[in-house]
Amino acid sequence: MVSRTIPVDPFDLVIFGGTGDLARRKILPSLYRRFLAGQMPEESRIIGAARTEISVEEYRAMARDSITEFVPSSKRDAASLTAFIDHLRYVAIDATGTQGWQELREEMREGMVHAFYFSVAPSLFGAIAERLHEHGIADGNSRIVVEKPFGKDLKTARALNATLAEHFTEQQIYRIDHYLGKETVQNLMAIRFANILFEPLWKTEYIDHVQITVAETVAVDGRGAYYDTSGAMRDMVQNHLMQLLCLIAMEPPYHFDPDAVRDEKLKVIRALEPVRPEDIVRGQYAPKNGKAGYRDDAGNPDSRTESYIALKVGIANWRWKGTPFYLRTGKRLRARTSEIAIYFRRPPHSIFDDPEGGRENVLVIRLQPNEGINLKVMIKEPGPGGMRLTQVPLDMSFAQALGPDGSDIPDAYERLIMDVIRGNQTLFMRGDEVEAAWAWADPIIEGWETRQERPHAYEPGTSGPEDALMLLHRDGRRWREIKE
Ligand code: NAD
Repeated sequence: MVSRTIPVDPFDLVIFGGTGDLARRKILPSLYRRFLAGQMPEESRIIGAARTEISVEEYRAMARDSITEFVPSSKRDAASLTAFIDHLRYVAIDATGTQGWQELREEMREGMVHAFYFSVAPSLFGAIAERLHEHGIADGNSRIVVEKPFGKDLKTARALNATLAEHFTEQQIYRIDHYLGKETVQNLMAIRFANILFEPLWKTEYIDHVQITVAETVAVDGRGAYYDTSGAMRDMVQNHLMQLLCLIAMEPPYHFDPDAVRDEKLKVIRALEPVRPEDIVRGQYAPKNGKAGYRDDAGNPDSRTESYIALKVGIANWRWKGTPFYLRTGKRLRARTSEIAIYFRRPPHSIFDDPEGGRENVLVIRLQPNEGINLKVMIKEPGPGGMRLTQVPLDMSFAQALGPDGSDIPDAYERLIMDVIRGNQTLFMRGDEVEAAWAWADPIIEGWETRQERPHAYEPGTSGPEDALMLLHRDGRRWREIKE
């Protein structure tokens, strides 16, 4: 299966923070890959804008190094890299001052799509938005892209929305949650809404529970001081896991249209039940084999911030009442994996004597690694010897289906940046969605802060704190094993 590439309109894309980590690791390599795929029109330009005083040549050299480092050698070649680099410009700019703004204005050309990627600290968003208008660089047709974290609670998210709203309409603001750009996540919508097969079963009568797991093997390395002000709930659950939950739980939108999809996601968030303290397990990875524990990594010996969280979430609506959603995410776990597992209920009655006859079907949607979908079904064990049953996976790996060497699945950022240029907001979070997610998360966080709860220590390389196992055991269920 070869994916089709539809070129976008010519654009001038400004990357504020164009010399930063995100630009080097994700934004520039993604743009190069889209260039290589023929999606970036020849007239387009990418303008790095950052505080660093460097020349255009130096910026191009930096971009070349980043792409060489972050795009596998089999996916790049010298000629196309040189051709891509020619599209780059650079302006040294001070987000909070006057330097560089006039120059940036002169770089922008009439008739192009104008997009501004705010790949800088959120504290700079207001200053940049204001200057873009003050200098006549942005207008009603421009688009801005903002990164996580989008606030640290409802109050700060509202303030950030209000700041952006002073200069841009909601239709111009693209809030990135890169999980939504993942191929499998979009496939979740295709599976649900382009097939008749699952939808009739997609409700509490047939679905026992749902597990959403985002496990990382890495520590907070280098980001410890920042992470300690955030934690797994703010860093992962309020945004990424919440978006996954919404896509599983939402009603079919009337059309695959930005507001129709986002309206349905918003309804799910608003229907979330408050989470009881006994339905939350928080953890911190302990030191092991000479490797620092979370508190050392965070530089805070008294830290109460969680590097792991598991929680049981209920949705109070007709479709989902009685079907728990178990969410878990953490660092320094056994394997790096992200997946959603839908556990269907067992058949009401087994006609077979085989005890396996009563096993449940499980639909597993793997986000990483090895993106794909796997449905566990019961079949007869081959051969004579009576009616013995066994569970087998119906396995569909997207890598196998989409490319000969399995690496042709576009990175989430490739898809999302091209959607910005196309003006399609479907895979971006709307302001009210982000605020509703904080309105749900805030009391949970305030609860453990008021109770001064300390996360449980867990051994690195495991699946997290023992108590997280109990969260499901006490409901007669088990977590799926964390493995690649
Ligand atoms: P970074 O610290 O590596 O880079 C910051 C960039 O901002 C640099 O280019 C710097 O020159 C520029 N900058 C700083 N102050 C400036 C000023 N006053 N005027 C003009 N430019 C200024 O940060 P990063 O890791 O690239 O992250 C950028 C944003 O993306 C942050 O909001 C971060 O939370 C978010 N984010 C980053 C990642 C990641 O993997 N790095 C992932 C998700 C979200």
